[in-house]
Amino acid sequence: MKRIEHLGIAVESLETAIPLYEALLNTSCYKQEAVASEGVKTAFFQVGESKIELLEANKPDSPIAKFVAKNGPGFHHVAFEVEDIEAELERLQKAGFQLIHQSPKDGADNKRIAFLHPKATNGLLVELCQEKSA
Ligand code: ZN
Repeated sequence: MKRIEHLGIAVESLETAIPLYEALLNTSCYKQEAVASEGVKTAFFQVGESKIELLEANKPDSPIAKFVAKNGPGFHHVAFEVEDIEAELERLQKAGFQLIHQSPKDGADNKRIAFLHPKATNGLLVELCQEKSA
Protein backbone atom coordinates (compact mmCIF):
# COMPACT_ATOMS: atom_id res chain seq x y z
CA MET A 1 0.00 0.00 0.00
CA LYS A 2 1.45 3.36 -1.03
CA ARG A 3 -0.55 5.79 1.08
CA ILE A 4 -4.00 6.73 2.31
CA GLU A 5 -5.47 8.07 -0.92
CA HIS A 6 -8.71 9.30 0.59
CA LEU A 7 -11.25 8.96 3.39
CA GLY A 8 -14.85 8.44 2.31
CA ILE A 9 -17.56 10.25 4.28
CA ALA A 10 -21.25 9.44 3.73
CA VAL A 11 -23.50 12.51 3.68
CA GLU A 12 -27.21 13.09 3.25
CA SER A 13 -26.77 16.03 0.91
CA LEU A 14 -23.72 17.22 -1.03
CA GLU A 15 -25.44 20.57 -1.40
CA THR A 16 -25.14 21.24 2.32
CA ALA A 17 -22.05 19.10 3.03
CA ILE A 18 -19.79 20.72 0.40
CA PRO A 19 -19.87 24.24 1.90
CA LEU A 20 -19.44 22.72 5.37
CA TYR A 21 -16.32 20.79 4.33
CA GLU A 22 -14.99 23.77 2.37
CA ALA A 23 -15.20 25.78 5.59
CA LEU A 24 -13.75 22.94 7.69
CA LEU A 25 -10.81 22.19 5.38
CA ASN A 26 -10.33 25.76 4.14
CA THR A 27 -10.14 24.54 0.56
CA SER A 28 -12.58 24.37 -2.36
CA CYS A 29 -14.15 21.19 -3.65
CA TYR A 30 -12.13 20.47 -6.82
CA LYS A 31 -14.34 17.84 -8.42
CA GLN A 32 -17.88 16.48 -8.34
CA GLU A 33 -18.64 13.25 -10.12
CA ALA A 34 -21.47 10.71 -10.26
CA VAL A 35 -20.58 7.00 -10.23
CA ALA A 36 -23.55 5.24 -11.82
CA SER A 37 -22.45 1.70 -10.89
CA GLU A 38 -22.35 2.58 -7.17
CA GLY A 39 -25.41 4.83 -7.19
CA VAL A 40 -23.50 7.74 -5.69
CA LYS A 41 -22.56 11.32 -6.30
CA THR A 42 -19.11 12.25 -5.02
CA ALA A 43 -17.27 15.46 -4.17
CA PHE A 44 -13.49 15.65 -3.60
CA PHE A 45 -11.24 17.87 -1.51
CA GLN A 46 -7.45 17.78 -1.48
CA VAL A 47 -5.89 17.68 2.01
CA GLY A 48 -2.10 17.51 1.69
CA GLU A 49 -1.22 14.14 0.13
CA SER A 50 -4.68 12.72 0.76
CA LYS A 51 -8.25 13.57 -0.12
CA ILE A 52 -11.68 13.63 1.42
CA GLU A 53 -14.44 12.05 -0.67
CA LEU A 54 -18.02 12.95 0.21
CA LEU A 55 -20.61 10.44 -0.94
CA GLU A 56 -24.32 11.07 -1.40
CA ALA A 57 -26.70 8.32 -2.55
CA ASN A 58 -28.48 9.14 -5.79
CA LYS A 59 -30.77 6.13 -5.77
CA PRO A 60 -32.64 4.45 -2.89
CA ASP A 61 -30.88 1.06 -3.18
CA SER A 62 -27.39 2.56 -3.24
CA PRO A 63 -24.98 1.18 -0.60
CA ILE A 64 -24.61 4.74 0.69
CA ALA A 65 -28.39 5.11 1.12
CA LYS A 66 -28.42 1.88 3.16
CA PHE A 67 -25.40 3.01 5.20
CA VAL A 68 -26.92 6.42 6.04
CA ALA A 69 -30.30 4.84 6.91
CA LYS A 70 -28.56 2.44 9.31
CA ASN A 71 -25.78 4.58 10.81
CA GLY A 72 -26.55 8.16 9.90
CA PRO A 73 -24.05 10.28 7.98
CA GLY A 74 -20.37 9.99 8.84
CA PHE A 75 -17.13 8.12 8.24
CA HIS A 76 -17.63 5.38 5.63
CA HIS A 77 -14.35 3.99 4.23
CA VAL A 78 -10.60 4.39 3.96
CA ALA A 79 -8.99 4.08 0.52
CA PHE A 80 -5.41 2.91 0.10
CA GLU A 81 -3.57 3.61 -3.11
CA VAL A 82 -1.78 0.57 -4.55
CA GLU A 83 0.65 0.04 -7.46
CA ASP A 84 -1.06 -3.07 -8.86
CA ILE A 85 -4.64 -3.60 -7.74
CA GLU A 86 -4.99 -7.14 -9.22
CA ALA A 87 -1.83 -8.32 -7.45
CA GLU A 88 -2.94 -6.70 -4.20
CA LEU A 89 -6.41 -8.33 -4.37
CA GLU A 90 -4.76 -11.70 -4.98
CA ARG A 91 -2.36 -11.18 -2.06
CA LEU A 92 -5.18 -10.19 0.32
CA GLN A 93 -7.43 -13.04 -0.76
CA LYS A 94 -4.61 -15.52 -0.16
CA ALA A 95 -4.09 -13.94 3.24
CA GLY A 96 -7.71 -14.75 4.07
CA PHE A 97 -9.40 -11.37 3.60
CA GLN A 98 -12.90 -11.51 2.24
CA LEU A 99 -13.34 -9.35 -0.87
CA ILE A 100 -16.49 -7.53 -1.92
CA HIS A 101 -15.10 -7.13 -5.45
CA GLN A 102 -13.07 -10.02 -6.87
CA SER A 103 -11.80 -7.80 -9.64
CA PRO A 104 -11.43 -4.02 -9.92
CA LYS A 105 -14.19 -1.80 -11.22
CA ASP A 106 -14.35 1.80 -12.37
CA GLY A 107 -14.59 4.32 -9.55
CA ALA A 108 -14.62 8.09 -9.25
CA ASP A 109 -11.61 10.36 -9.79
CA ASN A 110 -10.02 8.30 -12.60
CA LYS A 111 -9.47 5.23 -10.43
CA ARG A 112 -9.92 1.48 -10.60
CA ILE A 113 -11.27 0.37 -7.24
CA ALA A 114 -12.20 -2.68 -5.17
CA PHE A 115 -13.57 -3.03 -1.65
CA LEU A 116 -12.72 -5.55 1.07
CA HIS A 117 -15.47 -6.88 3.28
CA PRO A 118 -15.54 -5.10 6.67
CA LYS A 119 -16.10 -8.45 8.42
CA ALA A 120 -12.51 -9.30 7.51
CA THR A 121 -11.03 -6.06 8.85
CA ASN A 122 -12.52 -5.51 12.30
CA GLY A 123 -15.36 -3.47 10.88
CA LEU A 124 -13.31 -1.09 8.75
CA LEU A 125 -14.51 -0.74 5.17
CA VAL A 126 -11.34 -0.72 3.04
CA GLU A 127 -11.10 0.40 -0.58
CA LEU A 128 -8.09 -0.28 -2.76
CA CYS A 129 -7.54 2.12 -5.62
CA GLN A 130 -5.15 2.48 -8.51
CA GLU A 131 -4.89 5.49 -10.79
CA LYS A 132 -5.95 4.60 -14.34
CA SER A 133 -3.10 5.00 -16.75
CA ALA A 134 -3.67 7.77 -19.30
ZN1 ZN B 1 -13.66 5.99 -2.00
